[in-house]
Amino acid sequence: MADDIDDLLDEVEESLSAVKKNAPCDIKSASVKTEDLKDLLDDLGPPPPHLPSLPAQFTHPSKASTSSRCSLAYLGGTSLTLGHSQGATLRGCDRLRCLGCDLSVVTVDGFAWTPHTDYLFLRTHYPDLTRLRAHLDPQRGTRAYACQCQCRTILETTRVDAEKGLKWVCGGH
Ligand SMILES: [Zn+2]
Ligand SMILES: [Zn+2]
Repeated sequence: MADDIDDLLDEVEESLSAVKKNAPCDIKSASVKTEDLKDLLDDLGPPPPHLPSLPAQFTHPSKASTSSRCSLAYLGGTSLTLGHSQGATLRGCDRLRCLGCDLSVVTVDGFAWTPHTDYLFLRTHYPDLTRLRAHLDPQRGTRAYACQCQCRTILETTRVDAEKGLKWVCGGH
C-alpha cells in the first residue's frame, strides 16, 4: 500500500517536473503575447474620450410643433369639432398660438365677445376664464377665441389665414 503511494507520488513528481520544464517556455510565450498586445494597444492609442457622449450628440428630440401642425388651421363655431386637421379631416385647431403675444389661444364654446372687448381687457384678464367671462355673452353655436392680444367670435368654419389681421397659427399637436 505504502509502495503504491510512493509510486504514485513519484509519478506526480515526474509529471510536475515535466510541467516545470515546459513552464518557462509557456510563461515566456505568454509574456511575449501580452507585450505584443500592449504594443498594439499603445499603437492604437487611448480610446477617444468623446466616444461615450456620441449618442447624446446625435439625439435631437423632434418638437411636436414642427411635425404635426394642421395642414390648414381652421376656426369654427361649436358645430366644428376641435382637434387636428389632417388630410380630409377638418377640425377646428385647438392648438392655436398667437405670433403677436406668443401665447396659446383659449376657446369658450357657446359664447361671443362683447363689442367692448379690447386689447387692454384681454391683456389684463387672459387666461383667467372666470374674469374673461365678464365680456362673454352666451350665444348659441358660436365659439369665442382669445389670446392675450386678440379675440374673435366665430360661427362659421373659417380658415385662420382668411381672418384679416389675425396672428394665430397652429402651434402643433
Ligand atoms: Zn392645429
Ligand atoms: Zn396674441
